[in-house]
Amino acid sequence: MPITLPPLTRRQFGKVAIAVGGEALITSNASAARNSENTELDQNRVALLADTHISADPGRRYPGTKWPGSPVSEDEHESVNMAESLSETAKRVIALEPRPVHLILNGDCAFSSGKVAEYKEFLRLVEPIRAAGVTVHVTIGNHDNRENLWKTLPFLRKDQMGIQAEVIELEHANLVLLDSGRKGVLGDKQLKWLANQLDQRSDKPALIFGHFNPYPNRGVRPIRGMQDGAALLKLLGERKHARAYFYGHTHEWQHDQKGHLNLINQPAVSYYFGKGIANGWVDMRLTDGLAQIKLHCINRKHKQHGDRITINLTT
Ligand SMILES: [Zn+2]
Repeated sequence: MPITLPPLTRRQFGKVAIAVGGEALITSNASAARNSENTELDQNRVALLADTHISADPGRRYPGTKWPGSPVSEDEHESVNMAESLSETAKRVIALEPRPVHLILNGDCAFSSGKVAEYKEFLRLVEPIRAAGVTVHVTIGNHDNRENLWKTLPFLRKDQMGIQAEVIELEHANLVLLDSGRKGVLGDKQLKWLANQLDQRSDKPALIFGHFNPYPNRGVRPIRGMQDGAALLKLLGERKHARAYFYGHTHEWQHDQKGHLNLINQPAVSYYFGKGIANGWVDMRLTDGLAQIKLHCINRKHKQHGDRITINLTT
């Protein structure tokens, strides 16, 4: 079941109101338009974020380059303020014309282990995005804690708690959000669910999102990734309409292609693991036959700022 943070109306802004949807959330153009108040929302535009790692302390800075085996010497680590990175991203997403109808945060909302205080701060930082009419969707990363996230969702019923997977149906593509949990495992039940959801919607291209990398990454900080990544890739490889898998976790912007399947590694919104590596978010625009994605770095002077990848959606 998904964690979806619906847009806030002006009256709700300042409170934090959350609702959680049903098993497979179907977002029609009509309902999205209704939520938009007076703002024009682009029904075919989605902001893609990952690894915000929000601390309970908004002043918290962290050297992402500091990890066991890091090649960066002790006095040369680079630090990033996580809350500032997310609020800067929020401002830029809200400023897009037209504004995206959805925002997907692909795991690791929280800084440490998904404490309630971290989620409260996270919710405070995404409030302006929701007040701007954008629907926020969250996948679970290894630094998240479902139980604690649920505690910050006042209207959640016990029967709505579980695996956080959902399908968002858009005009040109279906977006499938997966829950790879704290340990990077989808599990047989969720893989079966995914196969079913894809098979029921084989008439339209699908873009799949999960926090973990499905195979060991080649970046500055090698990370083994998802335990059942091979099973996921096999499942997606067997379905031509599965056009891309988007993941975070490695904190690096990379692109691979395996047959019809694009593998898009989203950068971290906040810190990065190697010196000079891009941090920021991705703007995705969908048309009939194409998904065009563009990297927005927090540092607009970064050499990869404005990088584009085009995904062919035609099977
Ligand atoms: Zn992670």
